[in-house]
Amino acid sequence: MAKMNENFLNLKESYLFAEVAKRVKEFSAQNPDKKIIRLGIGDVTLPLVPVVVDAMKKGADELGVKETFKGYPEYEGYAFLHKAIADYYKSFGVEIGTDEIFVSDGAKSDVGNIVDVFGIDNTVLVTDPVYPVYVDTNIMSGRKIIYADSNEENGFAAMPDKNIKADMIYLCSPNNPTGSVYTKQQLKEWVDYALENKAVILFDAAYEAYVSDSEIPRSIFAIEGARKCAVEFCSLSKTAGFTGTRCGYTIIPNELEVYDSNGNPVSLKKLWYRRQSSKFNGVSYPVQCAAAAVFTPQGQEQIKQNIAYYMKNAKLIAETLTELGIKFTGGINSPYIWLKCPNGMGSWEFFDYLLKNIQVVGTPGEGFGKNGKGWFRLTAFGDYENTVTAMKRLKELMK
Ligand SMILES: *Cc1c(COP(=O)(O)O)cnc(C)c1O
Repeated sequence: MAKMNENFLNLKESYLFAEVAKRVKEFSAQNPDKKIIRLGIGDVTLPLVPVVVDAMKKGADELGVKETFKGYPEYEGYAFLHKAIADYYKSFGVEIGTDEIFVSDGAKSDVGNIVDVFGIDNTVLVTDPVYPVYVDTNIMSGRKIIYADSNEENGFAAMPDKNIKADMIYLCSPNNPTGSVYTKQQLKEWVDYALENKAVILFDAAYEAYVSDSEIPRSIFAIEGARKCAVEFCSLSKTAGFTGTRCGYTIIPNELEVYDSNGNPVSLKKLWYRRQSSKFNGVSYPVQCAAAAVFTPQGQEQIKQNIAYYMKNAKLIAETLTELGIKFTGGINSPYIWLKCPNGMGSWEFFDYLLKNIQVVGTPGEGFGKNGKGWFRLTAFGDYENTVTAMKRLKELMK
């Protein structure tokens, strides 16, 4: 008899987006003439930029010719992409070795798979509200999870508590869902806490390309000491519209160590290489060519135009909320705007209120954790005209 992994019984139903879809569908069925504007999506909407498409086509052409055909790629990615990524980090002052970069099919896979190399008896710390992947993948493998509160008092930027011991710490900055960012000083506190506890920070930098303030770190490795206690996950999904193309990368410093039960240090990078080479066969050549094109000067120029388009939406949403006196975080170094539901409404109450009155769809904050109760997420990934209409309708409704 095949037995199940009973940890799966501890997972909560992931009903957030299903419930959103259900309520929208019901409303549409009853009001077929009303145009719904979706500001809840966590997916990009602009197409890939031209240099990326050209590079992908060229890569595909090479695979069709005997002399340039390629079979299995290297597990950790091609050297040309490692170099492009390392040079990119250098452009904002962070030195990483090309041998510390692992290319993958996206950050979600790596964030989820990294748990393979950690013991079950580690205590996991996540900030709440949280990107659900950190929680669910640790529940599946049976680890204990503790929560650090991100709330209105701390600007949705949870800080370490010296009295609480954690071994694996998930941080996400710029944050999904709250749009908040950690300052250099705040990240330094986390790094110091991790070093003190011999813990590992699992830093999700999926939105680093949205950071416009040069004082805000784009990488955990901009912080002194981080090379001894942190792994960084990044992705081209939000940076360059690769949500459907699939490419990300994980950086594990050579110095980073975890411990066996006798307290002997073991290289985390070696464990990860062992894991990847057993369960993963690399990213396709045309996709890695496309990814490398993102980091060329022309690629950077083109993707920055797309990011500027989204950030124009973010700015408009932020200005509208400010005008209406609605509290929010995000919208500056992040495509997410996290707002406090007005008039003491609950997250779902506000969801229904917007849907019924102005046909604008967002995401109820309580779906991301207990501190999301009474909060609501809007995203800047919609199209500009729709965002303008949505904000006009919101102003009329709330004034
Ligand atoms: C979108 C997102 C990712 C990226 O995932 P991919 O698998 O690379 O598409 C990672 N982390 C967070 C918090 C995200 O919102």
